[in-house]
Amino acid sequence: MVIARTIEGLQEAKQKFSGSIGFVPTMGALHQGHLSLIQHARRENEHLIVSIFVNPTQFLEGEDLDSYPRKDEADIKICELAKVDILFMPSIDAMYETDELRIGAPAIRGYVLEGEKRPGHFDGMLQVVMKLLNLSGADNAYFGKKDAQQLALITQMVKNYFMDVNIVPCEIVRDERGLALSSRNVYLEGDEKERALCLSASLKKATQMVLAKELDAETIKKAMLEVLKDADQVEYIAIVNREFKALKKVEIGNTIILVAAWVGKPRLIDNLWI
Ligand code: AMP
Repeated sequence: MVIARTIEGLQEAKQKFSGSIGFVPTMGALHQGHLSLIQHARRENEHLIVSIFVNPTQFLEGEDLDSYPRKDEADIKICELAKVDILFMPSIDAMYETDELRIGAPAIRGYVLEGEKRPGHFDGMLQVVMKLLNLSGADNAYFGKKDAQQLALITQMVKNYFMDVNIVPCEIVRDERGLALSSRNVYLEGDEKERALCLSASLKKATQMVLAKELDAETIKKAMLEVLKDADQVEYIAIVNREFKALKKVEIGNTIILVAAWVGKPRLIDNLWI
């Protein structure tokens, strides 16, 4: 595995490639969720690039940029074992100039839910993903459904800018008790680990209701809120279609139910695709 820390280093390492390129962008502190994307990409491509870059432009003032978990040594081992060809770990200076052209998230889809709670987050995310997709030259790029709105916006960016890359959505990986894996789960302390299970439990409740043919969005949200009482603060429960428009009734095959809540230090998100 080549570890490239500069743009030139990445380009030089890529010159040896002759076939399809799979790409998995991450912010590191890798867990099984990331690994599932990496393995998915490994199976489907001749060459595999993973990036680790904690992107400053997607963090808002007061968020955890400085304390975001960093585990470079362990991440390098994981990537080696997963047979990654190039691990791209650029510096901030390599990725950004001071006065940059900016990409903006779309006005509606980019500013509801996560975009409303974290204004500017998606602009920064799209900016770095555009750079990384261009640099990787990927044929296929892999993103988790865990970040459902992010996935939708990246898919839209690729379409709107006629980018020649296939975006591959990947299933959410959870621990044995249902908690969606996240690098930020390391912030959970004491009983917060237990209480954090209420996010996935609320989605399980929604599944049971839909299976019992209860499709009314308000009724489902009310029942979910009851399950979410173990969280310190619920930011939103949303039932939307694949375009992120609010639904009055669940449409089977076209619905995402999303939840965001604070449990102790971390703000956690989870969702369910129906
Ligand atoms: P991050 O390092 O948090 O920016 O995540 C990098 C990629 O891994 C994104 O496409 C995430 O959606 C994906 N990812 C993170 N956690 C999970 C998970 N539990 N299951 C599946 N994909 C995930």
